[in-house]
Amino acid sequence: MIGSAQAGTGAPFAPPADLAPLSPAYDPWDPIRSLQAYGKHALTSVEFTVTHLCNMRCEHCAVGDSLTMAEAEALPIELMLRRLDEVEHLETISLTGGEPTFSMNTVNRVLIPLLKYARSRGIRTQLNSNVTLDYGRYELIAPHLDVMHISFNYTEAEDFHRIGFARTGREVGAVAAGRMYERMMDNARRLADGGLFVSAESMINYRTHGKMKEIHRLVGEMGCSRHEVHPMYPSSFASGLPVITKRQMLEAVEELLDARRRDMWMLFGTLPFYACGDDPLERRLLGRLAAEPNVTVRNDPDGRNRVNVNLFSGDVYVTDFAAVPPFGNVKTERLDDVFDRWQAHPMQRGLNCHCPAAGCCGPNLLVTDMYYKDVDFTRRSAIV
Ligand code: SF4
Repeated sequence: MIGSAQAGTGAPFAPPADLAPLSPAYDPWDPIRSLQAYGKHALTSVEFTVTHLCNMRCEHCAVGDSLTMAEAEALPIELMLRRLDEVEHLETISLTGGEPTFSMNTVNRVLIPLLKYARSRGIRTQLNSNVTLDYGRYELIAPHLDVMHISFNYTEAEDFHRIGFARTGREVGAVAAGRMYERMMDNARRLADGGLFVSAESMINYRTHGKMKEIHRLVGEMGCSRHEVHPMYPSSFASGLPVITKRQMLEAVEELLDARRRDMWMLFGTLPFYACGDDPLERRLLGRLAAEPNVTVRNDPDGRNRVNVNLFSGDVYVTDFAAVPPFGNVKTERLDDVFDRWQAHPMQRGLNCHCPAAGCCGPNLLVTDMYYKDVDFTRRSAIV
């Protein structure tokens, strides 16, 4: 496999040798694993929103509306650690923003303590970053981290300039954006060379669906261990962007599978295709995805095995679907209790299907809202 995120290699950012390597056979973020282990959905994954600050304003940003120019005081880290201690089946933690490394205060007082806590318990971690800032801050984090997750939707600096600053409300020069683009690629390469598992996520959308092969090639050149591919769903900043058809998405995935590097893990997520669907072409694609070596389709953690905690308000969200407001608050409640309440909610129960033969535990709310408004998935089953 490309990338050098192999345990025990002696590289500075390689994970400890006693941790199971992340691989197509071991993806602890996939809710199908906990569903199989416990016979029902269980909270195994906690995501923290650690900042609303960001140096970019990407046109597709799923949390764009919540980005700010100044930040309130975060809740005490001790409260977060206590709430994590209480989660009975905790396996993974994700840290997201904004750009989580935007402020060194966040790096030192939030990210590093949370990552050290996770490592001490053998809990696997992911940081969602644009890696466009100085390498020094990523170098501080990398020894404690399992997955550096970056967004990569570009074939050249001009794409990055056009997409990454679309919503700044001020002019960002092409030269400055070009320097950031080079630094992002250089940072990703250096982290991967140091043994860190770098996973680049690309969106299939109206801009990228014809360019996925070239984007994939650059992801490989950066030394990433994994290329993660999701369709773009129209929420927040993306809500006004043109939408592509399911057929265009299917073609983009087929093309990628034809052209992909066989030595790099490809992870697809939130695809709007299901084994219970009527379209034989879509079912054929699912069969191909299941049969290809080094390719996985991850069930969506949101609302399945994961909650999101806002580090400032303490609010707990069960999904990023706008129609579901915060479901509880860490100041007053255990996370397992909030999660149990969500499991009983009609909105969750309506999508709570599971077809073991297809390794599928149903669509998420964004996908159903966009493509399957009138479909009752609890009455369907996989055609395998
Ligand atoms: S689990 Fe749900 S969405 Fe997946 S194939 Fe079965 S019925 Fe369809």
